[in-house]
Amino acid sequence: MNQGIVAVSYLGAIILFILSLGGLSNQETSRRGNVYGMVGMGLAIAVTILGSQVTSYSVLAVAMAAGAVIGAVLAARVEMTAMPELVACLHSFVGLAAVLVGYANYLDPHVQSQFSGVELAIHEIETYLGILIGAVTFTGSIIAFGKLRGSIRSAPLLLPARHWLNLAALLVCIWLGHEFMEAGSPAGLTALIIMTVVASLFGIHMVMAIGGADMPVVVSMLNSYSGWAAAATGFMLSNNLLIVTGALVGSSGAILSYIMCRAMNRKFIAVIAGGFGTSGGTSAASTEGGEVVAVSAEETAELLRDAKSIVIVPGYGMAVAQAQHTIYEITRLLRGKGKKVRFAIHPVAGRMPGHMNVLLAEAKVPYDIVLEMDEINEDFPTTDVVLVIGANDIVNPAALEDPGSPIAGMPVLQVWNARTAIVLKRSMATGYAGVDNPLFYKENTRMLFGDAKQSVDAVLKSLAE
Ligand code: NDP
Repeated sequence: MNQGIVAVSYLGAIILFILSLGGLSNQETSRRGNVYGMVGMGLAIAVTILGSQVTSYSVLAVAMAAGAVIGAVLAARVEMTAMPELVACLHSFVGLAAVLVGYANYLDPHVQSQFSGVELAIHEIETYLGILIGAVTFTGSIIAFGKLRGSIRSAPLLLPARHWLNLAALLVCIWLGHEFMEAGSPAGLTALIIMTVVASLFGIHMVMAIGGADMPVVVSMLNSYSGWAAAATGFMLSNNLLIVTGALVGSSGAILSYIMCRAMNRKFIAVIAGGFGTSGGTSAASTEGGEVVAVSAEETAELLRDAKSIVIVPGYGMAVAQAQHTIYEITRLLRGKGKKVRFAIHPVAGRMPGHMNVLLAEAKVPYDIVLEMDEINEDFPTTDVVLVIGANDIVNPAALEDPGSPIAGMPVLQVWNARTAIVLKRSMATGYAGVDNPLFYKENTRMLFGDAKQSVDAVLKSLAE
């Protein structure tokens, strides 16, 4: 294909990706944003296939067909609750791709012979950095996958002198980088392999050191890393589109990480450094104790009938139970009776950024009654009833009241300031961060035990009678 056409098509794809990111920043335009992204990616793939770098279509066709089938089956099968794990898994693929491309590039004498002098030095730095970022992304994402899936415990692993270990890993990688550059190709392979092992261990340690409630920052941070890994791959392959796309993902992931850190009241650098400042907390295993008042679905319906102002706080349990559609039915019924019903969204509710917004949009809840934490926190004192649907950590007063808590300092939805807070969950079990929740024992809290879907179905039935 003509180089001019390739360049123009790449430019078109880049513009579509930028439009896509712009669209995704708002719920109302997110669908359009997704379409731009898909068209951009389709264009990028088509032009790359037809470009001069592809020499064997048969190998490519087999690889693409296998990838497309696996991707389509996985995407069709995945439960909404398993989406964060899938995303973490996909990040690990980007990391692994960067590592493999880096090695292939380094070991290919044809590629190496294209460069000399300063150009060769720059190319070797690109290869080294690409493999380093890729290895950290790969192993970090695998650990994140395990933590999100629950197969690795979510509590932080706090090794003694862990910051010194991280610093040592960094210094070793810098020294190995120097050795790698000095040795040239292919003698630098030993340094490259040792660095890959060190970077992989660093990735594991970094994510293992991060506690349950800080995981959202890790997920968005790995998203950013995967972008930089893709950009590094783009440099290695001299592919401008991959460089720009990687930079877009890398920087938007970094911005999202920063926003998440602000929402969690955590320091960005501290989280990147791997649980820096994390003491592990003291009260994870402590049990608050005290009286818990259970209510029935009928009593809940009665409280809702008497209320004028109602706020619904969805959490991970709503996603598990798939209760969003019935909740919207209840909302419509109550609004029909002239009550003020709004939704309060915590930035880290659920298991991925925007998780609750997606579920509420799926249930067709109007956007104007879905409010962010900062927009609604002040309104709780004038709210009659708060329905907490399968949320736990995001409504935990210990974050504000107990400086020793692992979630200390994290802003939460202050539902206990309302006249009555009704918590829908199956048991007294803790949430993702593994922290006991004093909210359950407050005088104005009522517990509606059971699967959230069954509970809201019963509440709806009772309200409709
Ligand atoms: P939590 O994990 O704190 O609590 C969810 C609660 O839902 C549990 O206590 C559970 O209690 C209940 N639950 C589970 N299944 C059901 C069901 N079928 N019916 C009713 N209740 C159910 O969730 P939150 O949304 O409050 O907080 C999110 C947590 O996840 C935070 O700690 C956040 O840091 C972390 N996180 C967030 C990410 C993000 O990007 N948003 C990513 C990774 C982690 P029970 O078992 O008793 O029913």
